[in-house]
Amino acid sequence: MERLVEIEKFTNDENIELSLRPDGWSEYIGQPQLKKNLGVFIEASKKRGDVLDHVLFYGPPGLGKTTLALIIANEMNSNIKVTAAPMIEKSGDLAAILTNLEEGDILFIDEIHRLSPAVEEILYSSMEDFRLDIIIGSGPAAQTVKIDLPRFTLIGATTRAGMLSNPLRDRFGMSFRMQFYSPDELSLIITKAADKLSKPIAKEAAYEIARRSRGTPRIALRLLRRVRDFSDVANEESILHVRCKFALNELGINTHGFDEMDIRLLKLLISAKGRAMGLSTLAAALSEDEGTVEDVLEPYLLANGYLERTARGRIATHKTYDILGLENPNQQQSLFQ
Ligand code: ADP
Repeated sequence: MERLVEIEKFTNDENIELSLRPDGWSEYIGQPQLKKNLGVFIEASKKRGDVLDHVLFYGPPGLGKTTLALIIANEMNSNIKVTAAPMIEKSGDLAAILTNLEEGDILFIDEIHRLSPAVEEILYSSMEDFRLDIIIGSGPAAQTVKIDLPRFTLIGATTRAGMLSNPLRDRFGMSFRMQFYSPDELSLIITKAADKLSKPIAKEAAYEIARRSRGTPRIALRLLRRVRDFSDVANEESILHVRCKFALNELGINTHGFDEMDIRLLKLLISAKGRAMGLSTLAAALSEDEGTVEDVLEPYLLANGYLERTARGRIATHKTYDILGLENPNQQQSLFQ
């Protein structure tokens, strides 16, 4: 079954996703601090006629990292080559990509934490000196061949900044952490996207979707498309608030925008009856790896105060008990102490 509050990319919807992507800064909503700083760096490098320094974006999926890379390319009037680390298996793969770049091009590598150590090593000198050091052969007969590369900008994106090796992280001239979007920002993104789909949306309806989108534009746009389906079937010219509420309830999207994984995680924490639960226990119980729990599932819950990280492990907060309609055992204890 399709999970609607899904965080991963869906290939079926990718074409529509592409058409809804903002082309320039004016259409890119939110992330004000990042926009401001990046805007300065872009303008400065354009003024100097220089290539932009390497950029790293990190944060949970669906928050607009790829979109930013495309906007940078647009602003810099550069060609962009988009790839993902799992597609670069051998050092030769990377060498082929790098030698095909032209002066001023942008190379975007998604999931950059997944590069193998051998590939990463090649990337270091390429990023620093725009030079490729390739070792041909092995043993005493091995030879290093140096190839000069055109000056390029590497844009890396990762959901797991903690997994980047220090040498790689150090070679990025700037790195930006992506923030979750506020309901107001998401409403605006939804309204603009609805206009692009030629299906206007009522203000309250846009807000209704925004509230249930886990602070994430990708989820907001996916929900918008599903709600639009309901509206189309009902032959309505625009997306009305009542139709939107009906559709979201039909789809089983809860009002906090929680994903079923979020709910499972929060219920697990609550089952610990006020005691802290270690990351490894939590990950094992959810059948997920620790990294996914830490970098994909937890950030939204943490940012919104549904989870606390302590030295002993994770605990549910008052807010969690409240929304699940349960009483907080820690609070009860303190009442009787
Ligand atoms: P990431 O690379 O971080 O996983 P994407 O850049 O692929 O995320 O964005 C996911 C979707 O959300 C895209 O369809 C994009 O158009 C939309 N989106 C992301 N950020 C914004 C934003 N700030 N303003 C408008 N649309 C956005």
